[in-house]
Amino acid sequence: MEFYEKQQVFFSSQKTKDLSFRRNALKRLRNEIVRQEDAIAEAIYADFKKPRFETFIAETQFVLAEINTMLKNLELWARPERVSGNLANFPSRNYIYREPLGQVLVIAPWNYPFQLTLAPMVGAITAGNTVVVKPSELTPNTATIIEKIIKNVFDPEYVAVVQGGVQVSQELLSKKWDHIFFTGSPQVGKIIYESAAKHLTPVTLELGGKNPCIVDETASISLAAKRIIWGKSLNLGQTCLAPDYLLVHHAVKEKLVQKLKDKIVEAYGENQAESQDLARVVNDRHYGRLRSLLEGQRILYGGQTMDEDNFIGLTLVDEPDLDSPLMQGEIFGPILPILSYEEESDIDEIVKRYEKPLAAYIFSNRRASQKKFIAQYGFGGGVINDTVIHIANKNLPFGGVGHSGVGAYHGKTSFDVFSHKKAIVKRGRWIDPPLRYAPYKLPERIAKWVKHLF
Ligand code: NAD
Repeated sequence: MEFYEKQQVFFSSQKTKDLSFRRNALKRLRNEIVRQEDAIAEAIYADFKKPRFETFIAETQFVLAEINTMLKNLELWARPERVSGNLANFPSRNYIYREPLGQVLVIAPWNYPFQLTLAPMVGAITAGNTVVVKPSELTPNTATIIEKIIKNVFDPEYVAVVQGGVQVSQELLSKKWDHIFFTGSPQVGKIIYESAAKHLTPVTLELGGKNPCIVDETASISLAAKRIIWGKSLNLGQTCLAPDYLLVHHAVKEKLVQKLKDKIVEAYGENQAESQDLARVVNDRHYGRLRSLLEGQRILYGGQTMDEDNFIGLTLVDEPDLDSPLMQGEIFGPILPILSYEEESDIDEIVKRYEKPLAAYIFSNRRASQKKFIAQYGFGGGVINDTVIHIANKNLPFGGVGHSGVGAYHGKTSFDVFSHKKAIVKRGRWIDPPLRYAPYKLPERIAKWVKHLF
């Protein structure tokens, strides 16, 4: 890993602090992604048959939009920010300088293998850091094209790619970094946090959870069904933001279930395996895991499986036992458990069984329920009357809380997460009141009044 020392030297050269250097890096990266966009879609398709349309909207165009945002705002965000002074340091001018942290390590998952490797990298570059990225070993074709793109654009002393699995990841973690940005499961997140703690390295942990989706009796049921199926089908449910399970008011359950079935058929036909618009489960292990989650469950719709293609169709499960494996961990696949409730307190009971999730959704046309949903539950981010779409606004921070993550990114939040905010006071010299200097002569009652100066 000689690039590690080389990056150290390169960062010390101060080159990355130059804004035009960063702008130039982002532009070259943008051009290369545009040039390789079809090849990226082919690579992800080869890994798990992600539909090309989904690759464009959720991978390449997403990263290109992030680069454009950075290019548009870099000067503004990097400028020293003047803040007001106070009497304690009068006369003075007070600033926050944003400076790069240094060497950043990005460890990525397989499910959005391009976006989740490149989007953090773009933030780290914009803020003036060197970067090492480790794509997921579970999507080797995408990892290869990512390496090709990065090698075409950057010297490894500035941005490098390291390929490999757990062992390589742990080798990387044994080094001292200035920031580690990890996206993946909460279990591995804990390992990353522990390794980072040894060097007091700050981390961003983008993890997952069991995302509830509430549908109350005031909701527009047909629209809810369409938007739920969309959020659950993207990437065949292998989306950290996908609704994990539904909580439906008993009075509208039957209607919702019917609409969900209709929407599945409308979008993917009677034989989902024939649809070109559904990805596949990423590997045999996850396929086997998802299949076993269906054992002993009452299937309302779907349940189609194809061993030779790691395919599971969108499947609606009726009232699973809360103690069954399906309702224990994050599903991360096309299975949608449907639970009905009578009273709002039933919702509380179920949602609060789980650690704080990355996302939560409510379909309701009642203002009071929407307000309660926002105020009452802990989750990373959410949407009222839709699913997943909050990720598409770069003005919103994207991240979890508690078990679903530490920190956030996207847009300005990314720039800040990879920057140190250095507080600087520029003091005037023309007056220097003697009050603070020893020997202390002022009465204590004046010292006890000093809070008014801060
Ligand atoms: P994962 O945690 O298994 O792997 C993620 C990365 O960590 C990979 O690069 C892998 O090589 C590495 N890794 C795995 N085990 C490791 C170990 N013991 N030590 C060091 N490194 C190790 O996650 P995954 O299966 O790739 O992704 C699925 C998970 O990611 C889900 O829980 C999902 O919710 C979450 N996720 C979160 C977000 C988000 O933005 N919050 C986005 C996508 C996925």
